[in-house]
Formats: sequence, C-alpha cells, structure tokens
Amino acid sequence: MSVKKFDLVILGSGSTAFAAALRAQELGKTAVMTEERAIGGTCVNRGCLPSKNLIEAAKLVYDARHPRYPGLEPTPLAMNFRTLVEQKDEVIAAYREKKYESLLGGKFQIEKGHAQFVDPHTVEVDGRQLRGDAILIATGSRPVLPAISGLAEVRYLTSDLLSSGESVEMTELPRSLVIVGGGYVALELGQMFHRFGVKVTLLERSKELLTLGYEPEVGPAVRRILEEEGVEILTDAVPKTARAGPGSVVVALQVDGAARELSAKQLLIATGRRPNTDEIAIEKSSVALGDQSQVLVDEHLQTNVPHIFAAGDVIGTELGSQMATPVGSQDGGIVAHNALSGAPRRRVNHRVIPRAIFIDPPLAVVGMNEKEAVAAGHRCWCRALPMSLVPRAGAIRDTRGFVKMVADARTHEVLGVTMLGNSAAEVIHEAAMGLRLGAKLHDFIDLLHVYPTMAEALKIAAISRFKDPAKLSCCAE
Ligand SMILES: Cc1cc2nc3c(=O)[nH]c(=O)nc-3n(C[C@H](O)[C@H](O)[C@H](O)COP(=O)(O)OP(=O)(O)OC[C@H]3O[C@@H](n4cnc5c(N)ncnc54)[C@H](O)[C@@H]3O)c2cc1C
Repeated sequence: MSVKKFDLVILGSGSTAFAAALRAQELGKTAVMTEERAIGGTCVNRGCLPSKNLIEAAKLVYDARHPRYPGLEPTPLAMNFRTLVEQKDEVIAAYREKKYESLLGGKFQIEKGHAQFVDPHTVEVDGRQLRGDAILIATGSRPVLPAISGLAEVRYLTSDLLSSGESVEMTELPRSLVIVGGGYVALELGQMFHRFGVKVTLLERSKELLTLGYEPEVGPAVRRILEEEGVEILTDAVPKTARAGPGSVVVALQVDGAARELSAKQLLIATGRRPNTDEIAIEKSSVALGDQSQVLVDEHLQTNVPHIFAAGDVIGTELGSQMATPVGSQDGGIVAHNALSGAPRRRVNHRVIPRAIFIDPPLAVVGMNEKEAVAAGHRCWCRALPMSLVPRAGAIRDTRGFVKMVADARTHEVLGVTMLGNSAAEVIHEAAMGLRLGAKLHDFIDLLHVYPTMAEALKIAAISRFKDPAKLSCCAE
C-alpha cells in the first residue's frame, strides 16, 4: 500500500481545514486535506452561503408583497423556485472555485474519500495512507437526529437541503412544512420558507424560543416578529412519533402536555449539530472525546495526543468556542502555527465572538448577557431599549426589535450587547471591537456615529445609563 508523507495531515476540507493548510503553505510546509463530500465543507456548500443567498431572495419576495411605505403598492413577485435553486448553485460553485478549489496545488493537496485513523500518525483514505508529523481533526459536524419513533421510516429533510448537486438538495417547494427545532437553522429556514409561500409550523421543545445563552427579551421578541408574518410556532412542543400519511408526514406530539397531530408535505429536522467523531476510527488515534462527542483540546488546540490537534465544529463549545465559520477559520490558522512553526505557541481567544441569526430583522449578539455577567461577579447595569428610539429605524419605517447593553455598573466597561433589528449583524461589529478593546459606556457615547444609522442604537443604549433616551434630539449626546 502506498504511503504519502506530509508535515500536516488534515481530516476534512472545510474552512477550518483550509485555514490550516494555507498557513502551513505560508510556513513552507506540506499539507494534505481529505474530503468525502464537496470540497470546502459545510459553510460554502450547504450552510452559510446557500442559506444567505436564498434568505435574501425570500426577503425580496416578502418586501414586494409587504411594502412598509404608504404609497408603495404590494406586488406579488412571480417566482420559479427551481431557477432560484439553480442560481444558488451557480453562486456557490463560483465561490467554491474562487475561495477553495483554485487554492489547491503547490504545497497542499486534497485526497477525496472517507478518511479514518490507522494509527496516531496515519490516516487512510479509501485504501491510500497519509502519514503526518502533525494531524488536524477538522471533520466538522452534522445534523443531530432527535429520538422520534418512526423517524427512520419517513422522508425527512435536514439542513443538507441547501447542498448543491447532492441528492438531498431541495429543488421543489413543499406546500407545507413542519420544522422540528427552534435554533438558528430552524428560524432562518422557517422564515425563508414561509416567505416563499410555504405553510410553516415550527416546534420548539422549551417554553420559549432561544432560551439558552440569550437575553430573556430575545425569545418573545423573535416569536412576535415571526408570528406576525404568519409562521406558526408551537412551544413546549415535543414530537413523539412520525409516520407517513397520504403524500405527507404525520407527526404526533405533546404541546403543553396535550396530545396533538400535525400533518405536512415535508418534515425538516433542525435540532442542532453534533461533532463528526464517530466514523473516523478515533480510538486508533487514542484521542479523547468529551460527553458531546467533541474532541477535547487545550488552549493550544492540542488533544491529549501531542501531535494531534482539533479545531472548528468538531470541538463543539470547548474553550468557549462556537460552531461558526470564522471561529474555525481563525483556530485552523492557530493549529498550523502551533504544529509547524516552531515559534512560541499561540493560544485560542474565544472571549469575543460576535454571532448572528439571519432572520429578518437579524439578531446579533456579542459578549455576556445579563445573567452571565452577574454569574461572573459583575454588578450589572443593563438596559433594553426599543428600536423605535433609533432615528434611522423610524426614518425607514422598520422599528422592529430592540438593543440591550450590559455593562459593569462600577467601571462602566461594556460586557455584552444584544441587538434585534435592521442591520444588526453589521452593527454588532462595533460592539465586538468595543469589547475587544475594553470600551466603556463613554467610548460608545463619545464616538461620533454617522447619522442616521442603525449603529446609533449602541450610542443611544449607552446614553440611556445617564439620560432618558426618549428625550434626545437628533444626534444627541
Ligand atoms: C444551514 C447552516 C447555516 C449556517 N450558517 C452559518 C453562518 O451564516 N455563519 C457562520 O459562521 N456559520 C454558519 N454555519 C455553521 C458553519 O457552516 C460551520 O460552523 C462551519 O462550516 C464549520 O467548519 P469546519 O471546517 O469546522 O467543518 P465543515 O465545514 O463541516 O468541514 C468538515 C468537512 O469534513 C468532511 N468530513 C467529515 N468526516 C470526514 C471523513 N471521515 N473523511 C473525509 N471527510 C470528512 C465533511 O464532509 C466536511 O466537508 C451554518 C451551518 C448550517 C448547517
């Protein structure tokens, strides 16, 4: 059997893997990635980019039907979903070529096929062996399937429906859709499908949406926005069984403790993601896993086996990480540096991770929420303000949402921001930079903001510590 030798062997070819391979190349080292599906991994092929492409199309459809301005008449846009999917596939293919495939060659390569460990230094890909001085596990994650009796016997979708060129890709819109789950994938796709004209019912186990890790104001506000559009949301809803009906799927569930049945043309399971660690013969590497199947790593992203590293979705929320592309991408570069450079090792820094849910209006969060700040020992000053206080929101007739700022009451250091509102996923970066630099309330107040912008939400939230924000003039201090 042929054995090829590399400085770095990488399981996976997602954004984490590419960041590591590129850094290895910059260091003059050889690297090989492995991939059993499309090159580039989840984000480009079936996650971030295809979802945001179609979500924006759905927004155009929705906005045309629901103009916010008197004087603009609602206009139904004629829609061809198949063509929309084709353009999505074209955009993705072009992006994959530009940002991933065209980078291959030279000192880094890719081996297509399923990769698994043979021993701690060797990975086998469909009979070919790759031996690495260092190894990076960057196999990402995949959808979790909940314990619903009969699920295996019915047809169901997962977020893989966004993939291109795979049999799981969705190319036709169903008339109705039941979504199991209430996290970011369920909410983003739920609103998107509803806007494309699908009757959507979303089932959330908890008594409210987005309870874990979010401010308590978030769940009810998001729910109100989605329900006002017409998305049906059932909370305290636990699916028990699924069975095939005539041209449909029937889900039996408990809602608020009462039995109920729902029938829909399609079922989408969006109940979270789990690290891909169960099909790589990890036991042959002696790498230790945590109780969520995540690879355990230290602050240098090193596993218990010193030459084996892990980063990206496969480490789950270890070290305060999050399953998001930029986190894996940054950490992939750190792995290559730590494994190959010989320079002092770099530590991961997950202190400031801005994140967003791309519903409309978007929800964006950075830093601590109120509960986390109190648990960390801060005496907390925090305030949630309605978006109607932001001049731009009023000017463009979109006052949905709120902004909440969490600061230390004594030092005034800003510890966290949550924003639900127009452009929140862009604005959150100002807050993130503030947190990174240890900014205080007065830094947000003293910074001149372009008027009128949604970023003024941060300034107004900070001002509200000292003055009634309802009594400010235009670009008030
Ligand atoms: C619907 C959806 C929307 C998302 N939207 C966003 C967003 O807007 N912003 C954001 O930051 N994040 C988003 N994410 C999350 C983001 O896609 C992931 O966090 C990111 O792709 C993780 O990168 P990774 O390199 O760690 O893993 P991946 O990108 O999953 O790459 C791992 C690769 O390894 C391959 N692989 C696994 N096992 C093997 C094996 N044994 N042999 C060979 N190959 C293997 C897999 O096929 C995969 O291609 C979204 C995810 C989904 C599902």
